[in-house]
Amino acid sequence: MILPKPSRLSPEQVAEITAIVSEFGCTVQPIVGTVRTIYAIVGDERDELMINRLEGLEYVERIDRIQSPFKLMDRRSDLASGRLRIGSVTLGDGLLVIAGQCTIDPKNPNYFIETAHAVREAGAHALRGGVWKPRTNPYSFQGDSKSLEILAEAARQTGLPVVTEVMEAEHIGLALDVGVDVLQIGARNALNYSLLRQVGRAIAGRSTAVLLKRSIHMGPVNEFISAAEYIVNFGNPNVILCPRGTAPGLDGYRYQPDESITPLLKEKTWAAVVVDPSHSVGKASYVPACALAATAYGADGLAIEAHVSPSHGIGDDPKQALTPAVLSDVIAQARTIHALRRQNQKPVPA
Ligand code: PEP
Ligand code: MN
Repeated sequence: MILPKPSRLSPEQVAEITAIVSEFGCTVQPIVGTVRTIYAIVGDERDELMINRLEGLEYVERIDRIQSPFKLMDRRSDLASGRLRIGSVTLGDGLLVIAGQCTIDPKNPNYFIETAHAVREAGAHALRGGVWKPRTNPYSFQGDSKSLEILAEAARQTGLPVVTEVMEAEHIGLALDVGVDVLQIGARNALNYSLLRQVGRAIAGRSTAVLLKRSIHMGPVNEFISAAEYIVNFGNPNVILCPRGTAPGLDGYRYQPDESITPLLKEKTWAAVVVDPSHSVGKASYVPACALAATAYGADGLAIEAHVSPSHGIGDDPKQALTPAVLSDVIAQARTIHALRRQNQKPVPA
């Protein structure tokens, strides 16, 4: 990783470092951080001669050789100084709340528009709405591209940034075209490296963020962070990690709640952690406790399914969506816990 002295290098300087690394079979990938652009050396970056030649350039501050399976996502990486803003919240400062329906019903768009206004009133900062749905049963409703317009209309009316899941290359372009702010990669695709690369490539050079769910299988924390590295590799570091419960489920819960991995993630990576309690426990009555536990574990945000009338919802909404009144209470309590944690916060040991 090349850390430049200026906030970014000129095209001539990039050409010069590219020429040097190419002699050693490597290429250069700029990663645009909030503070400065850094330049990842892609390939085997261990050659001492290459390092010496790069370090000899007067515009290079230093070469970072982090020994980590995920050198960009690593907490020691230069990207750690960046700050991601979603709507009115800077992650790491305030508690981000993403809320909205599991699934937008294209036949009943008014529910989604009403839900959008209601979650904003309840204190949410971003609106979620599923357009395309990964369903276990191939005969269940799979989503509908028509719902994208409903999502865009809700964004216009409320001014909230919007989050939706993409499952295929085609979805990515369609979502970006209507101005989706955060692309969700779901638990079933969380290790679909081809999709991760496609999303990374598509958002490079844009302000779009990615909400990357933890894989549905009980995978190691390093595997989760490495999946994010696939995206960041293409130059946009706006990735948020989202624990959402893993299989097999805890008896009575939909999945095995995993908000407790938040401190582990924070020890290893600078990425914000936004926990999804809805899919984790899978039942509206259990969601508030899981949301508050996640906040106590140090989550930077919550992604919660909510609906103005859950029983009229589709997908997961009838069983796990919160009503706006319950959502509002959960947000107020979670903010109190978050503020308490921040008051007593000590830096994570190096
Ligand atoms: C969802 O957010 O509605 C969803 C399907 O999420 P997950 O991928 O976590 O199951
Ligand atoms: Mn859902």
